[in-house]
Amino acid sequence: MPIKVGIPSALLFYDYYPLWITFFEELGADVIVSKNTNKEIVDMGIKNTVDEACLPVKVFHGHVLDLKNKVDLIFIPRITSVSKYEYICPKFCGLPEMIKYSIKDLPEIIDTNIDFRKSKKNLNRTVMEIGGYITKDVKKIKNAFEIAMKEYSRYKDLIKKGFLPIDTLKKDIYSKGDFFRGKAKVLLLGHPYNIYDPHISMDLVQKLRKHNLTVVTCESFCEEAMNEKAATLDKKMFWSFGRKILGTVLSAIKNDEICGIIYLSSFGCGLDSVIGDIAERRIRRDSNKPFTLLTIDEHTGEAGVDTRIEAFVDMIKWRDEHENNLSPHRKFIHSN
Ligand code: SF4
Repeated sequence: MPIKVGIPSALLFYDYYPLWITFFEELGADVIVSKNTNKEIVDMGIKNTVDEACLPVKVFHGHVLDLKNKVDLIFIPRITSVSKYEYICPKFCGLPEMIKYSIKDLPEIIDTNIDFRKSKKNLNRTVMEIGGYITKDVKKIKNAFEIAMKEYSRYKDLIKKGFLPIDTLKKDIYSKGDFFRGKAKVLLLGHPYNIYDPHISMDLVQKLRKHNLTVVTCESFCEEAMNEKAATLDKKMFWSFGRKILGTVLSAIKNDEICGIIYLSSFGCGLDSVIGDIAERRIRRDSNKPFTLLTIDEHTGEAGVDTRIEAFVDMIKWRDEHENNLSPHRKFIHSN
């Protein structure tokens, strides 16, 4: 019987799922991905996490509980850094411990340390350590990782074509034709695990698409251009999330195709409170694009979010219809 490896579909799942699913499958494991986030998963997560945790971490606990009795191993790496000289949120470093202390009787956890802060020189060792949970055959692990990287490149190519990570999960992606809407683009900022999880985001991407808006995110922007812009900030961003979000903001504010910007933030997230504030100041100072900040937690009601989105879309439409009536001093030249 093949080993069953569980992958929680939360936190960095949307960024790396093709890589890890392919890797474990190529090693001969049965990969089981937790169910899509739903109310039951959120409730289980809340019940089994400390109150102070942010919503995405609580939701992650719910996904682990969903896998608990279905698998032999659960993949919860200890992620310190994914980019040179940068960190990701400290919650990721302590995640395996947090899970072990919060949830009893778990299967074995693959909690390999992922730390590329100094360089990616230890990538090989990291891959060998993760693969070592399934097999001791070094060649097999190497081959599996090569195939997984090819699959990951295919995924990255789809993102470069304008699909969002959430679209790539759909079968028959090219025949759907539902992803690219009107010429007007809305930039949706925030952590991937918030914006791409339909339950957490209350289906924000689809809601905007229903208004005939094309949704773009940090992932839609050229990484080099984004990095160049981020390098112009007064201080170097040592958080990878911050560099990406602020680099995207600086790339987007002069882009006429972007007609509005939404920041989806998690209540209680230290990074969001700093990055969201810098982003909002720069957007308001250097552009006149409509901007809205949506802060979510487990108590956020969908009706309130819908109202904010309706108001945001109305603002975009109003601007579109009245733009020619505005003087450079933002006062009406003539009225209809
Ligand atoms: S970055 Fe914010 S939302 Fe993400 S895990 Fe850390 S505290 Fe939670």
